[in-house]
Amino acid sequence: MTELLYLDDSYIRELEGQVIRVDGNHVILDRTIFYPRGGGQPNDTGYIGSARVIDVYKEGDDVVHVVEGSVTEGRVRMVIDWERRYRLMRMHTAAHVLAGGVMYGKYKAMITGNQLDTDISRFDFNIDNFDRELMERAVREANEIIARNARVRVYYISKEEALNRPDLVKLYKRDFLEKLERVRIVEIEGVDIQADGGTHVRELSEIGKIEIVKMENKGKSNRRVYFRIIP
Ligand SMILES: [Zn+2]
Repeated sequence: MTELLYLDDSYIRELEGQVIRVDGNHVILDRTIFYPRGGGQPNDTGYIGSARVIDVYKEGDDVVHVVEGSVTEGRVRMVIDWERRYRLMRMHTAAHVLAGGVMYGKYKAMITGNQLDTDISRFDFNIDNFDRELMERAVREANEIIARNARVRVYYISKEEALNRPDLVKLYKRDFLEKLERVRIVEIEGVDIQADGGTHVRELSEIGKIEIVKMENKGKSNRRVYFRIIP
């Protein structure tokens, strides 16, 4: 089992860990600061010792690091590509403000899909009669919230408590909650609250500004929005 340190502190850029298993170019450590791809957030990249980490994914309770180069048994140093990770943290937190705070909070749009990336991220919303003008207004409102700033808090609640809070999951699929013992909550005070396993910034002021790249209609009531963040 790999301890997931990025869940409690997403600002750790370097750390030592113990190699548990090396299987070809797959490395498992006792703990990790590498985010494994999932939940719409791409994996981190970086180094374990001198080996380049090119992919990271979860397999049961383990995090598998796919490397180029060799990793020796024993203690190793992990370093994540901080510029990439920090951009993803900003992007991910921006998505909370736009999708959770404004689109869901104000316009009651359900999120049917999302994929974050360092440059351009996208969201799918289930909503009728949503035009470009309204989306631009939503982005303006999101940017006003960011400009006012707020703290981003991370804490845990019980599964029972989470299942009684429909506002915690804005996605269609909620069944993943059943499998958890405790649920990690990411709350932007006064803006958004979400059951979430990703990495975020501590304060909205770190995000910058959200800008729409393009919008597409994907079916009758499904809108796909591409956006980026600018400093
Ligand atoms: Zn999140």
